[in-house]
Amino acid sequence: MAASIRVTREGKQMPRIIVDDVHCKGCGLCVDACPKGVLALDMARITPKGYHPAKLVDQSGCIGCSSCYLTCPDVAITVVR
Ligand code: SF4
Ligand code: SF4
Repeated sequence: MAASIRVTREGKQMPRIIVDDVHCKGCGLCVDACPKGVLALDMARITPKGYHPAKLVDQSGCIGCSSCYLTCPDVAITVVR
């Protein structure tokens, strides 16, 4: 399930990411690439292919930089800004 959408006081949508469980293989490259340290593998979930998927653990810390998107070898991340 996608994270809920947060907005700023001015009504602007805050950056967030969506991870595609079908394509994520739990490699963790995006976790290492995130400069804000707000990504982790979700050890409580297993994808249909048997992996722990990446998860945004602190949405308020995401700056929408796209490092995770650019790093993911499986194009499993969408950055929403
Ligand atoms: S967009 Fe940037 S800050 Fe947000 S989760 Fe991805 S790498 Fe981290
Ligand atoms: S880099 Fe891509 S495939 Fe690897 S854990 Fe992150 S989202 Fe999943």
